[in-house]
Formats: sequence, structure tokens, C-alpha cells
Amino acid sequence: TSFEDCGFHETVRENIRMAKYTRPTPVQKYALPIIMGKRDLMACAQTGSGKTAAFLLPVLSLACCGGPPPTPPDPRGYGRRKQYPICLILAPTRELASQIYTEARKFSYRSRVRPCVVYGGADIGAQLRDLEKGCLLLVATPGRLVDVLERGRVGLEICRYLILDEADRMLDMGFEPQIRRIVEQDTMPPMGERQTMMFSATFPKEIQILARDFLDNYIFLAV
Ligand code: AMP
Repeated sequence: TSFEDCGFHETVRENIRMAKYTRPTPVQKYALPIIMGKRDLMACAQTGSGKTAAFLLPVLSLACCGGPPPTPPDPRGYGRRKQYPICLILAPTRELASQIYTEARKFSYRSRVRPCVVYGGADIGAQLRDLEKGCLLLVATPGRLVDVLERGRVGLEICRYLILDEADRMLDMGFEPQIRRIVEQDTMPPMGERQTMMFSATFPKEIQILARDFLDNYIFLAV
């Protein structure tokens, strides 16, 4: 498998070349066709395995380049105070969220996607102002996202791609109530109308339960 065979949009392929990624890592080799095939995925993969690109590349390619842009439920459209990301990535920490955001910027270069990131422990005002500039892909820590949702600044109505990264760490940090609040809220498209991917280093009972509750007929991948 090479990145050229994955059926990625040309803009994404160009960005992969610019990043000088020549060969997919093992998790990428297996996860890319599954995600491009629009299946839900539960992947057990460690940090450093290349899992970030494993979900970003196909999601950017599927969601964010080519075709007409998705229509927000708010008729005033984009560029207003409330943003409607098509892709939501939840991560446990500010550090991980920032890393994912940096990768998302790299691979969305020259596409219509403007990635944003929100995390706790930092000034929310600056994050809200950045969101206002447009956000098709949002990287967030769960607590801060709940805050942003409650302020009505983000809507999940057209969120077609949902990724939970380092799900085991999010549970260890006590984020399950916030995660459930986000994923199980009325505005989030239900299973079948969204594609959901979970990444976790371990696969204990609690993660199996989340996978059962959030994923639709999923493929299990352990690398
Ligand atoms: P991650 O496991 O997603 O945190 O990725 C670990 C590091 O590997 C990051 O610095 C990535 O930029 C890099 N990386 C991921 N996939 C590839 C690849 N196919 N070729 C070269 N470097 C990669």
C-alpha cells in the first residue's frame, strides 16, 4: 500500500508529499482503507504509531475537499458566530489536541478546511474569536467543548466524522460524562448518519462499552 493508492483527494496527496511521508505506517496501512470505505473503526494503537494521520488523511479527503461544501442548518451560513464543524476530534489533553491541530493544518493546506482547536486551561475568548473565522474541523478536549457548546458557539448538526483519540486516557481523566454529553446530545447525527472512529492504546471493559454505544457495525483493528 502507498498513499497514492488510497483514493485520496489530490489536495491531500499533495500535502502528504509536502510532509515527506513516503510510506504508510502499519496502523495507517490498515486503517486508511477502512476509513475510506466509510466504516466505523475501533483501533488499538499507541502514540507514535502514526495514528493521527491514520484518521486525518481519509477524513480530510472525504469531507473537506471537492464537492459542494456541506450546508449548515443556520441559513446565515458560515463566517458567523456559530460554527458547524463537519469533523470533530476529541482528545484528552491540551498537548495532544495541539499536536492533532498542527497535523490537521499541515494536511488541510490549500483545501477549504480551516481547522480550529479548543482546550481547557487557556483563554476561551481567543478560542471563540478563532472559531468565528470559520471551522470545518474542530479538535477539542471534552470539558472545553461542553463549555463552547453551552455558549451556542458550535453546533454539531452536520458533524459527519467523529473521532475519539486516546479514548482510554480520556476515561482515565474522568471525561466520560462530558464525552457522553457531546456524543449523545440531540443535535449530534446518530450512528449511521455519521462515521465514528475510536483510537485507544488499551481495550478494557469501559472502552468496549463506549465502542458498543458509539460505533456502528465497527471493524476492530489492533496493531
Ligand atoms: P502519531 O502517532 O500520530 O503521534 O505520529 C507520530 C509521528 O510520526 C508524528 O511526528 C508524525 O508526523 C509522524 N508520521 C506519521 N505517519 C508518518 C509516515 N507515514 N511517514 C513519516 N512520518 C510519519
